[in-house]
Amino acid sequence: MKRYDWIIVGGSFAGLATARQLTGWGLLIDQKPIGEHQTSACGTLLEVPMALGIDEAVVQVHHRLVLHIRGSEIDFPSPYPFCVVDYKTLCTRLAESGNFDFLLARVIRRDGNVVVTTQGEFEAEILVDASGWKAVLTPSTPQNNFYNTGVETVLPGSADGLHFFYEGKKTQRIYWIFPAGETLRVGAGCFFGRGAIKTPLFSFLRANALPEVNHGLHGNAFPFVLRDPVVDGVFRVGDAAGHCFALTGEGIRPAIYFGTLLGRILRRVVEGEITLNYAQHLYQDLVRKKRKAYRLLTTFQRTLTAIPDRVLAFASKMASSRSEYFLERYRRIFDFQHLDDILRG
Ligand SMILES: Cc1cc2nc3c(=O)[nH]c(=O)nc-3n(C[C@H](O)[C@H](O)[C@H](O)COP(=O)(O)OP(=O)(O)OC[C@H]3O[C@@H](n4cnc5c(N)ncnc54)[C@H](O)[C@@H]3O)c2cc1C
Repeated sequence: MKRYDWIIVGGSFAGLATARQLTGWGLLIDQKPIGEHQTSACGTLLEVPMALGIDEAVVQVHHRLVLHIRGSEIDFPSPYPFCVVDYKTLCTRLAESGNFDFLLARVIRRDGNVVVTTQGEFEAEILVDASGWKAVLTPSTPQNNFYNTGVETVLPGSADGLHFFYEGKKTQRIYWIFPAGETLRVGAGCFFGRGAIKTPLFSFLRANALPEVNHGLHGNAFPFVLRDPVVDGVFRVGDAAGHCFALTGEGIRPAIYFGTLLGRILRRVVEGEITLNYAQHLYQDLVRKKRKAYRLLTTFQRTLTAIPDRVLAFASKMASSRSEYFLERYRRIFDFQHLDDILRG
């Protein structure tokens, strides 16, 4: 059996952000080639690809979010630009900036420190589960498994701003249109995963005179409650750790933030500076520091999906007049401009 210093399962945002920080002899495993398994609309803050030095992945920059509710269009101008990125470019550039072996295989299970795949078994002292919401190395217990759901398609078209359409308390369904150059990424999601999304997406496309397609659909669950960052000695990051936000469904920025920090911590283990045990404490501490923000967003999601639609529309109009304040607070949950200082502190 082949032995590595570290093995990461999942070659998307979280796994690649972690892997590129690591030295030693490492293995990254994914069931799909890097950049081929897009599940997301890939909207994020512009500062994310910039901080990674991958600005060529940016397809379109947006300066406002627009909420459509009860027939009104409420504008949230942002003090910080958002953008939509090209998944393949971002992932391939992240992968190129790291130094590790890549294995195209499906992970079946873990036996202690051994990862069992369709291409054989591999062992490492350091294991990272970055395999998305199903967390293949560290499956979650049902009570930790709160998730929203989403499905999306890509259509020709162009527009400005990131648009969200909330259908209301009755269905708790949301649609989005994220313009990306000559295309629109159009999706449907359901808070708490309690309703259908695919058929409603087609109805939404019809209602908005958008071409209806039944191919190229991608989607997934978005877990939004923090799970234990370390389970049975295995580090979890990204959706596997429940790092995606409630309410906004933003998961790329958290996956890259925690992945980067986890990678830097684990690098110190590989280089013999700290023990694996100490690394677990450091990482758990970092995640714990963000617990309040996660809880707050979960509370917002529960509240906003429970109040009457007209109250929500009124509250949204009020909030839009302080849009810059709220969006700045939201941005500050993760400080991408001072990532280097976080582990020094
Ligand atoms: C429809 C939709 C739209 C979204 N839009 C946005 C958005 O615009 N902005 C945003 O910030 N977030 C968005 N999200 C959330 C975001 O996509 C996730 O939070 C993010 O992808 C999490 O990254 P990750 O690396 O943890 O997991 P993933 O991106 O899910 O990657 C997991 C990787 O693990 C691999 N894997 C899984 N199981 C196995 C296995 N058994 N063996 C081998 N490999 C395996 C997969 O192939 C995949 O490459 C969206 C989600 C959905 C569903």
